[in-house]
Parts: sequence; C-alpha cells; structure tokens
Amino acid sequence: MEGSGTILMIEDEPQMRRFLRVILQGHGYKVEEAGTGGDGITQAAVRNPDVILLDLGLPDTDGLDVTHRLREWTDIPIIVISARGQESDKVKALDAGADDYLTKPFGAGELLARIRVAMRHRAAREMGRNESVFEIDWLKVDLTRRQVFVNEAEVHLTPIEYKLLSVLIQNAGRVVTHSQLLKEVWGLAYAHQTQYLRVYMTQLRHKLEADPARPRFLINEPAVGYRLRTEPPEEA
Ligand code: CA
Repeated sequence: MEGSGTILMIEDEPQMRRFLRVILQGHGYKVEEAGTGGDGITQAAVRNPDVILLDLGLPDTDGLDVTHRLREWTDIPIIVISARGQESDKVKALDAGADDYLTKPFGAGELLARIRVAMRHRAAREMGRNESVFEIDWLKVDLTRRQVFVNEAEVHLTPIEYKLLSVLIQNAGRVVTHSQLLKEVWGLAYAHQTQYLRVYMTQLRHKLEADPARPRFLINEPAVGYRLRTEPPEEA
C-alpha cells in the first residue's frame, strides 16, 4: 500500500532514523528529519508535515514538552515513539494531545498502520465528517439510532456500554488513554477509576467479541488504555 504525504521524525538516534526513513520512503512518503526537540518544533512550523513521529527521549528536551509546545498551535497528528519503561511518560504525552504511540522495537506494518489511522482521523475531523454508520468486520453500529449489531443481530448495550463504545469508535484505530475514556464516559471526577473501565470493557467484550477472553478488536493497551482495532491483527 503506497502512502502519500510528509512525515517529520523528531528522533536523535541515527539507527532509528535510518530504519524509519527506509520504510517511509519505500512506501512513498516524503521524510523530514530533526535530531532535537527544538529543531523539530521549527521544522513542524516550516514544513507543515502530515504526521509527526516523536521520540520521547531527546537530547535537549523530552517528547512530553515537545507535545505541549506543538499543541499550543497545531493539531498535526503526533505519534510518540517510546522505549520500554517509559509507560508513564507515554501516557502523559497522549493525555497532552499526542495521537498514538509505538513502543520500540516495532515493525514496519505497525508503523504504517498507525500513520494511516492518524491521517484518516485528521482528514475526517477536518471535513467535519460524522459517519452515521460504523462498520468493521462483524460489528455494525448505527450512530444515529444508537443500534449495535453483531453479525446482523441486534445487541442491547447499557447506556454506559454504548457511550464507551462510541468514544472508541470516534477514535477508531487509535489508542484512547484510561483517563480520556473515564472523562468522556463518566466525567472529570472519575478520571482515576480505572476499575470501572475493566468492568465495562469486560461486559462489552462479552457482548461484542466472538471470544471475549481473546479479543480481536477491543484491544487492551497495557498501562495505557484501549484501542478499537480497525485493521485485522497481523499474523505472527
Ligand atoms: Ca532518543
């Protein structure tokens, strides 16, 4: 699948930059590079990229700070690149407005899928497009009538289950952090009640997934949040 658009990577490790450049250029993307947070912010303003890949550990500042500074003036999708052990920084960056994340090491397929989702999401938002029917594989949701169908059969969700599903659908393909979900579904005061999410996500999986113990689409992102997967999982 060929991409088009400009990707800005803000990353200080030469090997990682080479890895990203080879994949992205090989798939038709134009690539811009910055080795520091400061240069990255300047390049974001000058080049107006379609997506920014942002390393969390940079020599002059960190990715969280860069996310805050970018979000003061732009909504260009930001995909954070983190190392293992940076879970809390990753979550902070997502809550500060980053769109998604990749944990090193990751494969080309995962990288390209995240970029496609980020671009689609931004395009949909800019066009003010609100799909009235959401459909993937086995699941169909009529967002106007608030009806949910699994393999053509209607499934009844409680108001909270429906709200949770609809927030995931609005962010289809992207990770949504625990605190973002809790604020959207239950309200600001509940931003730390992650046990609510576990309970309701289990209920949703039982109603929507063929095998709730091994969900294919309502995906847990450990220590971060949940994702409604829109592309079939890559075969290992
Ligand atoms: Ca780094």
